[in-house]
Amino acid sequence: MEYKVAETFVSINGEGQRAGELAVFIRFAGCNLNCNYCDTAWANQKDTDYRIMTETDILNYILSTGVWNVTLTGGEPLLQPGIKLLLDKLGSRPELRIEIETNGSVLIAPFINGEHRPVFTLDYKLPGSGMEAGMRTENYAWLEREDTVKFVISDQKDLDRARQVMEEYNLQGRCGLYFSPVFGRIEPKALVEDMIEHKLNQVHMQLQLHKFIWPPEQRGV
Ligand code: SF4
Repeated sequence: MEYKVAETFVSINGEGQRAGELAVFIRFAGCNLNCNYCDTAWANQKDTDYRIMTETDILNYILSTGVWNVTLTGGEPLLQPGIKLLLDKLGSRPELRIEIETNGSVLIAPFINGEHRPVFTLDYKLPGSGMEAGMRTENYAWLEREDTVKFVISDQKDLDRARQVMEEYNLQGRCGLYFSPVFGRIEPKALVEDMIEHKLNQVHMQLQLHKFIWPPEQRGV
């Protein structure tokens, strides 16, 4: 198969349970959502400058970096036609740890097979994103401890909704849970205060590391 790849690079994982570890990123072009805070909107535009890579191209690139954590991101990676073939190919290399950053609007079940199960970092798009209607909460039946549900928070209404979703789907203790502030929209302190007030055990507050290490708009980091 051929995949539309917007960029490839090595950096540190900015988010999720492997935050701070080296990771090789494959960013696919195109997304079915349009979050109002999207910081990779350039990769979703129809005329974005992508290149075509096959499974073999992608695997060879990953192996050439010497980095084991692989993050497939976007855009929305699970919408790439044939992506399951790529997952099978990457899964056949036991040294690689495959993580898929997905926006929560695509069913993950078809991409899970026992032998080569990737790790999922699943967004729940809160009201502040403008995209909550697209969330597929059926996905929560498939979560495992290594997976993550990430809530990107714009305001107090989003905090209230995130707590409601965690409770409704009984998420605490079943997977990693992360609260992350939309850069420049809400003070990180407000998230911590809310966590203290509501005694949110097993929830991580997370800042997007790369926005503190590099300029917030920088690509390829
Ligand atoms: S899902 Fe992700 S890539 Fe797609 S518009 Fe929202 S923030 Fe951007």
